[in-house]
Parts: sequence; structure tokens; C-alpha cells
Amino acid sequence: MENINFCSRGIHICQPDNNKSCAACCGIYNFIDNSLDAVFERLGRNSLSAGMSDLSMSHVKSHSKKWRKRDNDEQSRLFPVIFNCEFAGFIDKEKNKAGCLLHPCIHGDTRFIEIGFHGVDMCLNHFCPSYFCLTEQEKLTVILSIDHWFLYGLVITDIDIVKCFVDNINNSLGNTFDPWLIARSQDLKNVFADFFSFKLNWPFADSKKRLFGKYRFYGDEYEINTIPYEKLGIQKSVYTPIFLSLASFFNNSSEVIKAENIIKSHVQRAVAEINRMCVCD
Ligand code: SF4
Ligand code: SF4
Repeated sequence: MENINFCSRGIHICQPDNNKSCAACCGIYNFIDNSLDAVFERLGRNSLSAGMSDLSMSHVKSHSKKWRKRDNDEQSRLFPVIFNCEFAGFIDKEKNKAGCLLHPCIHGDTRFIEIGFHGVDMCLNHFCPSYFCLTEQEKLTVILSIDHWFLYGLVITDIDIVKCFVDNINNSLGNTFDPWLIARSQDLKNVFADFFSFKLNWPFADSKKRLFGKYRFYGDEYEINTIPYEKLGIQKSVYTPIFLSLASFFNNSSEVIKAENIIKSHVQRAVAEINRMCVCD
């Protein structure tokens, strides 16, 4: 497969290509302010302050002393059980790739990453559930349709939204579509990119509660959010995993129907474009 990176666990979803990457498990989204601007600013700050261009042990230690506690205090951290690492930053000059500033792939030895909170073994050998739960088709669908690191990290780690959308398209087609079609059609890429962008601009997202995807946080505890279909007087939607991933809140049944129609129209657009391409082939 051209331009896609592989590792011992198959497609290297952490660093899938030269244009983007993920650093979600280093805690980059685990802040009360998770906006693109705020995350961008923190990654840039870490890259500069940890001395990416001129890495030294004294730089690394003083950066850690300055930020580890602050990034993990009550005012900053969203979910206290997840550690926010002060060494997640941009690993390229163009600021397209989020990743570990101390990684031996960059510096050639493990001396620096030993300073990290989790230690060498965990940082170098961690593979999140997406490696095991997403199929190759699902991984490639995300990789080939999203260009920006911020959205990519949010989506590749959200197993439910990827599975539910891809399943609905496969079911409508009556077969498993080839994700490489996305690389051949800008229209198809736009459908997937528009759909996954709902992670950033979903009109029914609940901004009042402290939600991250389907999770709701109460201090050290969390629970999975639910949609009260019975109270709303409507049947459970086939798109429930998507609604939960998008932190949805509905005031009434007509909002649920509107939300269903939005998702359905994206499924139908994808199916129509895939069918068109397959007939032309
Ligand atoms: S969350 Fe998963 S894909 Fe993202 S950096 Fe961690 S292991 Fe890689
Ligand atoms: S030291 Fe570990 S947790 Fe921190 S950025 Fe590097 S890989 Fe992530």
C-alpha cells in the first residue's frame, strides 16, 4: 500500500503517513479546554520549551518541572485518571504531526523518554484498542479521508463512530466497500471528511455537561452517556453509537429525527458515489 506506514500491529495508525499523526494517549485532548486553538498552543509550547531543535537533558528536566504539575491540576485536566504528558508536541517543522518529543525514533536513544511519566516500556510498546478493534477497512477509511492531525486523533480513537458509519454504508451497499476508492474520488473523500467533522461541529452536541464523546465525567468517576428515547417518545435509533460519540443531547423527538436524517444523508451520499465509481470501473 502506497504511502501508508506499517508497524508490528499492521497499519501504523499512530503515524499513518507523512501528513498527520495521533497523540491522543499522551493526553493531548484530556484538558478542560480541548479546542483546536488550545491544543495547538500547548503542543507548540511543549515543542519550543522542551527544546526540540536542541534537545538536552537539562532542557527536558526543566520543561517537565515547569509543566507536569500544571497540566495535571484540577483547573487543567478533564479526566483525572488519564495523565497529560508535557512531552507531547509537534514532531515536524510544519506542525502537521503530533507526537512524542522524546521518542528514540527522533533522538536515536531512550535516555530522554525515560524522563517521561509512564516510562520507556509503556511509552514504546503501547497500542490502543483501535489497533485491535478497527478492521483494516475502517482504519483506511479514516486515514484516507482526514488530513488534519487534530480531527484525525479524535476519530481514529473513537471506535464506535467509525464502526457505525462504515457498517451502515456496507449494509446499504450489500458488500464491503474498498476504502481505496476514497483516494480516487474527492467527492467521496468530502463525504467522509464532512461526516467525521461532526466531531467538531455537531449541531446537537451538549456543551453544558462535561462530556468527551460518550463519556461523562464526575471527578474521578465516569459514566457512559445515554439518550432517553422512552422519555422522548421515540424508538431507539440505528445511529445511537454515532449520537453518543458526538456527545448528543436532544430536547425532543423531532431533533432526533433531524439528526437521523443528517447521518442518513451522509450514508446515502457515500453509497451513491461508491456505486457510481464501481459502475464506471
Ligand atoms: S491513541 Fe492509539 S493511535 Fe493514538 S497515539 Fe495512542 S496508540 Fe497511537
Ligand atoms: S513520554 Fe510517553 S506519554 Fe509522553 S509524549 Fe512521549 S510517548 Fe507520550
